[in-house]
This record gives sequence, structure tokens and C-alpha cells, in this order.
Amino acid sequence: MNQIHNPSNLAAIDLAHHLHPFGDMKQLGEKGVRVIARGEGVYIYDSQGKKYLDGFAGLWCVNIGYGRREIADAVSRQMNELPYYNSFFGTTTPPTALLAQKITAHTGGRMNHVFFTNSGSEATDTWFRMARVYWAALGKPTKTHVIARRNGYHGSTVAGASLGGMKHMHEQGNLPIEGISHIGQPYWYAEGGDLSPADFGLKAARELETKIDELGEDNVAAFVAEPVQGAGGVIIPPDTYWPEIARICRERNILLVADEVICGFGRLGTWFGHQHFGFEADLAPVAKGLSSGYLPIGGVLVSDRVARVMIEEVGDFNHGYTYSGHPVCAAAALENLRIIEEEALVERVRDDIGPYFAAAWKSLEDHEVVGQAESIGLIGGLQLAADKSTRQRFAKPDDAGVAVRNHCLENGLVMRATADRMLASPALIITRSEVDQMIETVRGGLDHLREQRL
Ligand code: PLP
Repeated sequence: MNQIHNPSNLAAIDLAHHLHPFGDMKQLGEKGVRVIARGEGVYIYDSQGKKYLDGFAGLWCVNIGYGRREIADAVSRQMNELPYYNSFFGTTTPPTALLAQKITAHTGGRMNHVFFTNSGSEATDTWFRMARVYWAALGKPTKTHVIARRNGYHGSTVAGASLGGMKHMHEQGNLPIEGISHIGQPYWYAEGGDLSPADFGLKAARELETKIDELGEDNVAAFVAEPVQGAGGVIIPPDTYWPEIARICRERNILLVADEVICGFGRLGTWFGHQHFGFEADLAPVAKGLSSGYLPIGGVLVSDRVARVMIEEVGDFNHGYTYSGHPVCAAAALENLRIIEEEALVERVRDDIGPYFAAAWKSLEDHEVVGQAESIGLIGGLQLAADKSTRQRFAKPDDAGVAVRNHCLENGLVMRATADRMLASPALIITRSEVDQMIETVRGGLDHLREQRL
């Protein structure tokens, strides 16, 4: 039966049999699930026919927007030609090889290899093992510890959830695993106190140096962070942060891992987030925007420094997934990258729609319940505040965010809230009038929050 015509039945079937990721199943039982049936451009439609502007591009991933027939055609061609073959034991497929060439071509000549995975979480597990294997091959087997950040997000596998700094994830399943430590996040608004953003950026970065001293340089393999922390609230670091982190990693001889799963493929107006901040990554997990979410695929971009050791010293890396470099997913990703290049979407974000979005987003700062509105490219974080003059937060930050988010949803805009920060990450093809529509709806949500007097 066509799901558009039988929405309530489908929602009931789903609730009876589908355990959802990151969704309170008890609450869903009372509130019901939304069935998303169709997408076109920046819009999605639920099974009741209601239209929403997707201000979040799915889960930060549908960079080229919904409904691109070119991708469906490329996938169909590849399905008919060769639906599957693996890349174990010295084989590859045409789209896999071409995709490896195309992705690495955007790294400025520094990262000429990629290891394919099916998701960002698998990419995390991959670089985590690779970093340890790299040091062991260089005769430093004690360099195994990895330092990450509180509130960072690197996926849901055991290593991913452990490296992530999400308390509610650590509380389930006895995490983090051994060999992982967390330092603070560069979240000036909440944690900067009386320091200027620049001084706070340095202070937050120097926590890394302190942690390395505590653990001993010979025991530390890598530091990982998202160039702009996404799920942890779109935390845009002060300008001083990344140069200092890069200096510390260089001087202390630990690998710098830039988690590009959200920032990669144009979101910041550069191909990769570390390029925006001007630092060099040794390893960079990618996923999401690599295929714009049309099919699952991820990978780890590997710098020449690490690749040389993996090839010449290690040789056989005993690691891989049945679907690493899956030809159909690779064909979808290849076509996606072709569209991003042909439509100059990265340049569009940098020079045109990004600056337009930045000005529109910033205009929300005049609202009484907004403490700060920040963005880079097409990613934005909006800090809600009970008293903006003193940076005082709402007594129940989660309730504040949920109030705005739900109001937006009722009014046809999908946004995300992380506690008292509203997050936006629309498709890179969003138009100016769609940005205006987004901002107007968010403003409505902010008015609603003010009226709630939380
Ligand atoms: N890394 C970052 C920065 C992410 O935002 C995510 C997912 O949101 C992941 C890794 C995990 O990716 P996946 O959900 O594809 O496993």
C-alpha cells in the first residue's frame, strides 16, 4: 500500500517493531512517530502531506538537497553493471578507484589516500586503530592513548561513543573504554568566564598540553576533534584555538585527527573544515556529505605522513568492512562530488549563500532570548539566554531548546536543539528566500520561548 495514503497504519507498524536510535521509545509510544515520505530540494514532506523546510539537511548530510535524479540514475547504472564487489585481497571496482582519486584531489595534495567505510562511526574505529598501528610500526608501541573532547561526537560504535564526550552515552554500556581521555571544549559563551574569546581559545587548547604531560608524551597516539563541534552544539572555536592545537600536536609529536564528518564537503565554505581553520590534519574521518546521505559511505583521509608508514612499514592492515568502497555507494558519492564541483557549491557557500546566511542568522542576536548567534558557511549555532547582558542561561536549558524546536516544527521548519543551543545546517543549495523563511520561523520560535517565561 502506498505509504502516503496510509500514514497512521505505518506509524503504528513502526512503533510496534522498530527500535529507534536516539529516540525515547516510551515517549514515542505516546506521541507517535512522524513518517517522512518524500523530499525535494530543501523540503521534506511527511506522510500526511505536511511540508517542512529541512534546516538540518537530514542529519547534517544532504548537502546537495533532496530529489537529485542524477544520483538515482548513477546508482541504477552501477546496480545493473556490478551491484557488489569487495576491496579485500587486492581487488577494487571502477567507481571505488575513481572516488578515491576524486576525494583526495580536494585535500590540497596532502592527503593522497583514503580508507573506505560505511559510516562516520566506522571511520572513527578505523583511524583509532590506524593511529595505534602507525606508532607501533614506528617502534613506539606505547603510544596508544587518544585524547578527545567533552561534548565531542564521533559516532555510536564502542570506540566512537568512547571518544565522543557525551555523558549520556558514556552512562550506557560502561563507557568510555580504556585508553581515552577528554579535555574541555572551546565553548566560550558557557565556559569562558571573564576571559576574552581569544584568551579562552588559548586556554582551552592548552588543556591538551596539560593532558599530554599528565599521560606522558610517549603514551599518546592522537588528539581528535571536530573543526566545528556539531552535535555538541555547533561550537565554533575562537580564532586562537586551532593554531595552538596544531602547534601542540606538532611539538609533542602526536597525530592530529580532524573529524570532518559534518564539516567536510562544503559546509564551512571549504572542501574540508581544517582548510577553513588553516591547519593540517594527519587523519580525517569523513561520511555524510560524501554521498549527501543518498547511500551510506564514509572513509578516512590519510595524510602522506601516515600513508607512507601504513604502506611501507605495516603493509597489511588487518582491518576492513565487507562493504568498504561498495561500488554502488561509491557511484552515488562520485556523482554527488561531481554535482558539488559542477554547481560550485563550495564556492557558493564561501562567497554567496554563506555570507547571506551569516548576516540573516546574526540578525537574530537582537532578540531578547538570544545570547549569541554564530555561523560559518552554512552551519549555525544560536545560544539562547535568559539574560543576555550577563550571559545567564535558562534554569532548564533543555526545555528552552525544545520549546523553540517544537514551535519551529509545528510551523514547518526542522531545527535541532542541543540543550539551549539551536542548531542549523541546511542543504548547500538553499536559496536566499528559503534562508529568509528559515529565519522568520526561528524568530517565531524565539517569540514563543519569550512568552513561555521558562
Ligand atoms: N563524527 C561526527 C562529527 C558526526 O557528527 C557523526 C554523526 O553525526 C559521526 C562521526 C558518526 O557518523 P555515523 O552516524 O555515520 O556513524
